[in-house]
Amino acid sequence: MTVHLVGAGPGDPGLLTARALELLARADVIVYDRLIPATALDDARAEAELIYVGKEGGGESVSQEEINRVLVERGAAGAEVVRLKGGDPFVFGRGGEEAQALRDAGVPFEVVPGVTAGVAAPAYAGIPVTHRDAASAVAFVTGHEHPTKPDSALDWAALARFPGTLVFYMGVRRLDAIAARLIECGRDANEPAAVVERGTLPGQRTVVATLATIAQRAQEASIRAPAVALVGQVAELRDQLCWFEDRPLAGLSVAVTRARAQASGLAARLRALGAEAIETPSIRIAPLDGPPPEPGRHDLVCLTSPNGVSCLFDRLFAAGLDARAFSGARVAAIGPGTARALRERGVIADIVPERFVAEGLVEALAGVPVRRALIARAAQARDVLPDALRERGAEVDVMALYETVAERLDEAERVALGRADYITFTSSSTVRFLLESLGRGLPEGARLVSIGPVTSEALRDHGLEPHVEASRHDIDGLVEALLSDARAGRRGAGEA
Ligand code: SAH
Repeated sequence: MTVHLVGAGPGDPGLLTARALELLARADVIVYDRLIPATALDDARAEAELIYVGKEGGGESVSQEEINRVLVERGAAGAEVVRLKGGDPFVFGRGGEEAQALRDAGVPFEVVPGVTAGVAAPAYAGIPVTHRDAASAVAFVTGHEHPTKPDSALDWAALARFPGTLVFYMGVRRLDAIAARLIECGRDANEPAAVVERGTLPGQRTVVATLATIAQRAQEASIRAPAVALVGQVAELRDQLCWFEDRPLAGLSVAVTRARAQASGLAARLRALGAEAIETPSIRIAPLDGPPPEPGRHDLVCLTSPNGVSCLFDRLFAAGLDARAFSGARVAAIGPGTARALRERGVIADIVPERFVAEGLVEALAGVPVRRALIARAAQARDVLPDALRERGAEVDVMALYETVAERLDEAERVALGRADYITFTSSSTVRFLLESLGRGLPEGARLVSIGPVTSEALRDHGLEPHVEASRHDIDGLVEALLSDARAGRRGAGEA
């Protein structure tokens, strides 16, 4: 029965500490704020009680007294409580007050520091808050108070003289007054300054100017909270050290329409390249019941997708069988992902065609003797492969292992899709079901990325022309194609 005051970091889920993740995964109660990473609660227990105490769209937040009361009450009742706060709980987070309330009530507490925005947002903007040559001290300052308030808790003259970097939290709206007051108190008007909006998040933006001009520049760029402002020579280093906003897909939103269970690999690749990956699954894989293949019956077994492999083995395992059921057969796989899924289950595919479509497999099988083939695949699939094998005189068993069914987008996913710069389609069923689910056309302005010719055809059937078609028809190929389109777009914009 401990209350943990836990820092969630500035927004990038990767900056949640190992300790924070461990506590979140076992908490009975999680009391959380608005500025926490979007995925922070994903691994909470299904039974955990989640209590939101942040501000609702700029409205009133739950009062600090009320938050303290909830923490004390749940803690005293013996629950494992996580009080999750943006950044670090003891840096402008009122964590100190919560700890005092717990102490007064005799409820044990622990503090888990977090990565604070005042360090992380500049770091992601390419600005080190200290530097041997440029700043030997850093001050974290609240920008919450109006600097001309007569009873201000801040000593502006001292801040103006402060020999190092000044980092302001909560100060975007008052940036004008803050800068003016610092200059009035003697700080150099030409000192470099920066504002970092939504630091560490996919849409991070940074404005660099001088103390005299930063407020104006930030306003021109419509910088909004959450943002930190920084005054110091170190702001100049951004020119050399910018990295996060320079990543190839930085600032772009990419929708992933494949099934939720398969989306994470592609989403992770896109995020690593700097994109905001929006998961808008339009399909779901529903395994079909049925018997496993009869061991030893086939001399060729064809698998056409990783889903097919996993469903086929599920059937084998359920019947007490394993990979030895195919011991006498040649195994063919369409696509490296399918081959990988087989290898994970102890089978190395004999044939993996160069082209990852049924036609490619037909070509690859040209010289291969086949008497009785098993084609294990989705219920709805093209008949290119069975037809071609039958034509060659083979007996063909087609085993429908799973169905691809529609997954409805919820309202948040629809909204997110609406701001996508790219929408990726990894199969014709993602095209069909997404359009069905939307009931209207795709959002305007998004560029459509197709994994290959079959998926592109599905788009054309709906009157849509793909902007990008992968020349390698797998996830790597799709990411590559998207990247080169984004680069071309940037070049185009740069020349304009
Ligand atoms: N405890 C938090 C700060 C809470 S005060 C921490 O340690 O980071 C809220 C202020 O933090 C915001 O007004 C903004 O100035 C800053 N902030 C929080 N998240 C931010 C982000 N992702 N990018 C820039 N500033 C952020």
